[in-house]
Amino acid sequence: MQTVETIENRLFQLAPKAGAMDWDNVGLLVGDPAQAVTRVLVALDITEPVVREAISLGAQLIVAHHPVMNCTWLPVQTLREDTPQGHLLRSLVRSDISAICMHTNLDVASGGVNDALLDALKLVDPGPLAPDGLGRVGTVPDGPLPLGEYAKRVSEQLHCNGVRYADAGIPVHRVAVGGGACAEYAAEARSLGCDTFVTADLKYHDFLNAVPQGINLIDAGHFPTENVVCAVLIKTLQDTFPDLTIQKSTSLEEVIQYDVKGDS
Ligand SMILES: [Zn+2]
Repeated sequence: MQTVETIENRLFQLAPKAGAMDWDNVGLLVGDPAQAVTRVLVALDITEPVVREAISLGAQLIVAHHPVMNCTWLPVQTLREDTPQGHLLRSLVRSDISAICMHTNLDVASGGVNDALLDALKLVDPGPLAPDGLGRVGTVPDGPLPLGEYAKRVSEQLHCNGVRYADAGIPVHRVAVGGGACAEYAAEARSLGCDTFVTADLKYHDFLNAVPQGINLIDAGHFPTENVVCAVLIKTLQDTFPDLTIQKSTSLEEVIQYDVKGDS
């Protein structure tokens, strides 16, 4: 019988805690290390529907990417039923469900988020992007391709509802990738000789500034660029613990929809 702790230890072998950014909060964030686990639910985020899904499946543990508490965007000062985060955390505790989150340590890990993204985009000749371990670079095997064609390919490969992109007027051949919000690495990608950067959460001025710098930008969305890591988490745990029942959440899908001009 596995415990929350043995599962956490295995996940830290995949993505060592030391790899996490200093502001981050990773590992077992809610629950009991000694709790016995037979069933695990894997999701990019721990939301109310994901918690309800875990309850209905009888899962004792949720393994997620984004921290459910005490990171830069979800600080915890109270645990109140009448706040969205308090309600969520109390739901986990009431239902005796533990939560392990592997975040920036999984972003930088070999075989983690950014390698999963590189694989999903079927890029070859991989290399690192940033000195802090975030991002990867790779080559389009059948490139160079026109940016419009490549943007469509990315959208299909990552199951996006659509992508936003800015065209620097160069075909796509050497591509940098950064799962989630990695806008600040665009200049780094350019300096490594990449013509295109696939990431998420780009702002207007990120696009505006990239074009004169000579790099195409593709914003493929936060969820699609990181959701690819769920399969890695599942495979890692299933290979190590064949007796565990591990399922990917079906209640968490891309929340951002696109109303495309010209569609009826
Ligand atoms: Zn993220």
